[in-house]
Amino acid sequence: MDIRGLQKTSLIDYPGKVCCTIFVGGCNLRCLYCYNKDLVLEPETLPFFPIDEVLTFLQKRISFLDGVCISGGEPTLQEDLPAFIGEIKNLGLSVKLDTNGMKPGIISRLLEDKMLDFIAIDIKAPFEKYSLVTGVRVDTSALKETINIVKNNVVEHEFRTTFVPDLLDKEDIIKIAQAVGGCRRFVLQRFLSSSDLIDSSFNVHEYLPPEDIYEAVYLCLEYVKAVDLRGF
Ligand code: SF4
Repeated sequence: MDIRGLQKTSLIDYPGKVCCTIFVGGCNLRCLYCYNKDLVLEPETLPFFPIDEVLTFLQKRISFLDGVCISGGEPTLQEDLPAFIGEIKNLGLSVKLDTNGMKPGIISRLLEDKMLDFIAIDIKAPFEKYSLVTGVRVDTSALKETINIVKNNVVEHEFRTTFVPDLLDKEDIIKIAQAVGGCRRFVLQRFLSSSDLIDSSFNVHEYLPPEDIYEAVYLCLEYVKAVDLRGF
């Protein structure tokens, strides 16, 4: 595991739980608005956390924590992810995985082996805009497979989209809700601007007015069971 960041305590990364959040280096996407630039492009420049030290840290904090959120970067690129999750679960902690969903094989195996207690999948755009928003050529069939696997599994889940003005509009959000139709929770997150994005030329010019956001939520509810707004 190429662990390049650790937030000792988080009240927001794992719904309903106090967690430690672990950030893994490297990603297979290059989302224009990604603010984890160093984690994605130059993880070797960040401090490295050996697995043994992380597990010892978790053991010491066990009475304060409910679970661990494994985030990125993209955790499913790590070959030893299943073994690492197994070690965390042996400590008695719940595990949430944050993923971009591009590796259905590993996600399916983790779910079959009951290694996850929660999975959050980022849906970046409607399928036809994926390559534009993620900055790389994307095989959306892999993502579609992940969506089906997760929707049809009992594991607690959410699909979430960062509503980036200038890249996505209201119609795009509704198309995404259709694509994850039937899911138990769809989350719309507000884009937070930063001067240190992967694409340094990317700039947001205008945010949608609140009434348009609420209208989008209302329309999404035709397709998904619940919509949460974060940061709006
Ligand atoms: S926002 Fe995109 S590039 Fe950044 S870590 Fe997530 S999937 Fe990777």
